[in-house]
Amino acid sequence: VTFSSFLKSELILKAVEEQGYTIPTPIQAQAIPHVLAGRDLMGAAQTGTGKTAAFVLPILEKLLPLANTSSSPARHPLRALVLTPTRELSDQVADNAIKYSKYTPIRTAVVFGGVDITPQTQLLRNGVELLIATPGRLLDHISQKTANLSQVQFLILDEADRMLDMGFLPDLQKILSLIPKSRQTLLFSATFSPEIKKLAQSYLIDPITIEV
Ligand code: AMP
Repeated sequence: VTFSSFLKSELILKAVEEQGYTIPTPIQAQAIPHVLAGRDLMGAAQTGTGKTAAFVLPILEKLLPLANTSSSPARHPLRALVLTPTRELSDQVADNAIKYSKYTPIRTAVVFGGVDITPQTQLLRNGVELLIATPGRLLDHISQKTANLSQVQFLILDEADRMLDMGFLPDLQKILSLIPKSRQTLLFSATFSPEIKKLAQSYLIDPITIEV
């Protein structure tokens, strides 16, 4: 199997090739076709399995036809949101997303707490299609109206088990209540605990389940 059997965009394939990836990892081979087909998905995968590219690559491919080179912020509504438990993970996911999207016009930003909010505010005001965020800081941006979730079509909950362990459930519930129901939702977790299954039942529709 090769990446070009799933991904059609030369712009994304070129960036993947530059990363030196030749063969999709098992989670990538299993997840990417379902994500491209629009399915909700629950993935049990640890860090190190290639799970980040398993969701970032197909989401970029879905965002590509919607992206444009206009400088107007209004032409860059937020369409894809990745929630992660920590600053480190947010940074890591954003790092990947920026590398894979470097030849595309898709705009990406990352926001997390514990740092000055002002530079993040400035970035969000310019308009981004893909945002990677920790829940608390995202809610700060929503309150100050620099993030608007009304046009989000793709939601990814990364390391969902850790988000629950860290007490983010109320924040997640608030955030989920602001995202249109007609979206595609992907949930990744190291394990499928009863709490994770309950979360999935509340927020995913007929998900494909993948365990690697
Ligand atoms: P992750 O599990 O997403 O944290 O990825 C673990 C590491 O594997 C990262 O350093 C990725 O850059 C790398 N990686 C992801 N997919 C592939 C692939 N198909 N081939 C080689 N390396 C990969």
